[in-house]
Amino acid sequence: MSENRIYNFSAGPSMLPLPVLQRASAELCNYNNTGMSVMEMSHRSKPYEEIITSAEALLREVMGIPDTYTVLFLQGGATGQFAGVPLNMMTKNGKADYIVTGQFSQKAYEEAQKYGKANIAGSSKAQNFTYIPAQEELTLDPEADYVHICENNTIYGSKWPYLPNTGDVPLVADQSSCILSEPIDVTRYGVIYAGAQKNLAPAGVTVVTIRNDLIGTPQKGTPTVLSYETQAKSGSMYNTPPSYSIYMIKLVLEYIKDMGGLSVLAEQNRAKAAKLYAAIDASKLFTNTIRQDCRSIMNVTFSTGNEELDAKFCKEAAAAGLASLKGHRAVGGMRASIYNAMPSEGVDALIDFMARFEKENA
Ligand SMILES: *Cc1c(COP(=O)(O)O)cnc(C)c1O
Repeated sequence: MSENRIYNFSAGPSMLPLPVLQRASAELCNYNNTGMSVMEMSHRSKPYEEIITSAEALLREVMGIPDTYTVLFLQGGATGQFAGVPLNMMTKNGKADYIVTGQFSQKAYEEAQKYGKANIAGSSKAQNFTYIPAQEELTLDPEADYVHICENNTIYGSKWPYLPNTGDVPLVADQSSCILSEPIDVTRYGVIYAGAQKNLAPAGVTVVTIRNDLIGTPQKGTPTVLSYETQAKSGSMYNTPPSYSIYMIKLVLEYIKDMGGLSVLAEQNRAKAAKLYAAIDASKLFTNTIRQDCRSIMNVTFSTGNEELDAKFCKEAAAAGLASLKGHRAVGGMRASIYNAMPSEGVDALIDFMARFEKENA
């Protein structure tokens, strides 16, 4: 890698593709001969309108989002949507099903309780979130206004290996840490939302994709900025959108499109994850506790089982140019976040370092 960059395994904000950063850098002070930076530009101006329009068009193209869905660029992060989803969607029967498979789905569930009756329809908490419950383990309420899942559990390093069958009840997915990691069938979902800072762009923008017929009138008292109805009507411009982050989404999507799209990325992502898990499984020092079929290809957790040794690993890895490998405080150990922008060579460097560390600390 050039520009003295290191391999950054941060869970988010995380690495962005170097060509994207270089392009942003080249355009930083004077965007497309406008004489100003995108940061300085009115969000109602002609050049900005082109930026947000093409960001949306590219997202639709790359993810295969049909016209029957609306794309919103909002603020408040995925956490904002923990409230946004119930406020906009717990409006028919005032209840929803939550499947708790980690800390973010737990938080989403807790937030939803403020706005209606949130039920836990399945949970892997008793097994330390090491797997995703099977369809038979879920107790879904056919009268629920929606079913909420967190599709990739960033902290624990697990991923739904299937999508639950929710019948006529819309499926709502937090895809913050897996969006754009592989092709998906958008029509299986009612709502997909994602904070940008893992696979999409810098922090600041939250993408919400919602099936048009689900955009209803939100609950009374809903903050206007969180209203899907209002934001859809105003093209995400009810107020100033996170304009620079949306511009960065556009650059990331152009880059992804040029490299062949999500099927190419998925192949790369699966290969990166497969070799890292293979190294962990072959090791006598490192273990991963997630059930094989539920392992995330974006966030790979592992540990030595010894806190001091884990700390030593992270410290020495950082000194070797492998940054931010410390696991989430709720889990401990290590976590290698290997999002789209992590090059295969970065994973190789980590695997080499792990082998060296194991030899030295056997
Ligand atoms: C990072 C993350 C969040 C929190 O996102 P914010 O943008 O900080 O609100 C929520 N859910 C998942 C799955 C995440 O990975």
